Amino acid sequence: MTAVWGRAQQQDFRSRVRGCLLGGAIGDALGAGVEFESLEAIQRDHGADGVTDYVTAYGRRGAVTDDTQMTMFTVEGLIRAQVRRDTGAWHPPTDIHRAYRRWAATQSEWGPDERRKDMGWLAREEWLYARRAPGEACLSGLSDDRMGTLEEPKNPGSKGCGTVMRSAPFGLLVGWEPQLVFQLAVECAAQTHGHPTGQLAAGAFAVIVHGLARGEALDGSVQHALALLGARPGHQETTDALQSALGAVRQGMPSPQRVEALGEGWTAEESLAIGVYCALVAEDVRHGLLLAVNHSGDSDSTGSICGNLLGVQHGETALPPAWIAELEGRATLLQLADDFAMEMTQAPALHGPTGASPAWLDRYPAA
Ligand SMILES: [Mg+2]
Repeated sequence: MTAVWGRAQQQDFRSRVRGCLLGGAIGDALGAGVEFESLEAIQRDHGADGVTDYVTAYGRRGAVTDDTQMTMFTVEGLIRAQVRRDTGAWHPPTDIHRAYRRWAATQSEWGPDERRKDMGWLAREEWLYARRAPGEACLSGLSDDRMGTLEEPKNPGSKGCGTVMRSAPFGLLVGWEPQLVFQLAVECAAQTHGHPTGQLAAGAFAVIVHGLARGEALDGSVQHALALLGARPGHQETTDALQSALGAVRQGMPSPQRVEALGEGWTAEESLAIGVYCALVAEDVRHGLLLAVNHSGDSDSTGSICGNLLGVQHGETALPPAWIAELEGRATLLQLADDFAMEMTQAPALHGPTGASPAWLDRYPAA
């Protein structure tokens, strides 16, 4: 992004980035305690309305899971791709892959390994070294150095929602053309998932976030994603899922049953459909997020996806303050959001081919 940003534009963008990350994390945390519960069990344990607030998961209220962890490493990878550009290298999938490998280390190691020189600040956050029901394909896809690519993806045949739930940050590249945002999300999805739907649903999600980040309406952003999907081989399953989400909006009052008619959210296209549907019918952020987590499926991922959408659409100030106050990792999420916004709007003041802020390079090493 070379355009000069005005103050109001910068503040609006930062608010959307914060909203996207915090909103996703809040949705993740609301669903964390009921991820593996049926709707019947949720209502039995929490009342007829299901969960209406954080419930204890992983030993606390407001705990986030793998969805938020991986989303944070996507953000970190994107910042580092831009910083590394100063060295003449430009291949964002490589930086994203390195970031996901750092996430994978948080799933198997006790804490940060200070011998790693290029670790950066995010992987030094000790609270991230926690296993929160990570997806199998994400773990196995990142278990060795070889980067999965479109030609040779990891886990051929896998289309779990682990691609979609980590891909919102690609949509925050507001200076990029939508088709490039789509392509980058698809390529990075191949690092863990080989099925076209696993990849294309991630691309569609990124493009929807991208439209919202640029101030467009949600339904228009979904239509834009559908147009880009239509040109890709193997798109039908993802297209059908998004069309089902749009169709469900026209069927009347939102309910858990209407959410469940879209699937359970364990697969990429179902998690996308549920997240988009709940964001489309949301009366406000709270209503949308509770709808997104009270169903018999992957509640934390659908909550996270819906929260990314509502947060980027309405900005951080639209998020319920009490949920922000109690959210695990709030300080880290805010630092990361602000760093991303600074990198995207004020990069020349932080680094360039002729010099850089040492503190910035320590946070985001170019090596
Ligand atoms: Mg999760």
